[in-house]
Amino acid sequence: MALRMILTADESVLHKRCRPVTDFDERLHTLLDDMADTLYESNGVGLAAPQVGILRRVVVIDGGEELLELINPEIIATEGEQTGLEGCLSVPGKYGIVTRPMKATVRAQDRDGNWFEVDGEELMARAFCHELDHLDGHIYTEVAERMLTAEELEELANAQEDEE
Ligand code: ZN
Repeated sequence: MALRMILTADESVLHKRCRPVTDFDERLHTLLDDMADTLYESNGVGLAAPQVGILRRVVVIDGGEELLELINPEIIATEGEQTGLEGCLSVPGKYGIVTRPMKATVRAQDRDGNWFEVDGEELMARAFCHELDHLDGHIYTEVAERMLTAEELEELANAQEDEE
């Protein structure tokens, strides 16, 4: 298990466009394993390679069912709309209100280079959009309708405590 350091949005690497993955080798597999470890350690839903300082088109997502590894992912279809809360491991302690598609279909390669398609709804569709934006150097705060106020953040923290 190896954890990578999660960079915050003030780092320039988070604002650059990532290059496609061309080598599906040991180095990619190590990156994917480390990204999954880092994601679970941070209790996040998704993590994109630039968040750990790697400018490659690699994303890991786990919305609670299974780990998805997306290499060179593209959104090929969307449907509907949802407006709700969004946060980012690179923007710690903050949340915003963001409108995303209700459903999204992604085409991507797995760790061995095989292409596949995956559908996501609600949280997964939101995660697809959020994480793929990272690969083009974009952070959700750029598209948020607004950020939560200090009072709203406090309410959210209290609600999360009640859940635990
Ligand atoms: Zn993010």
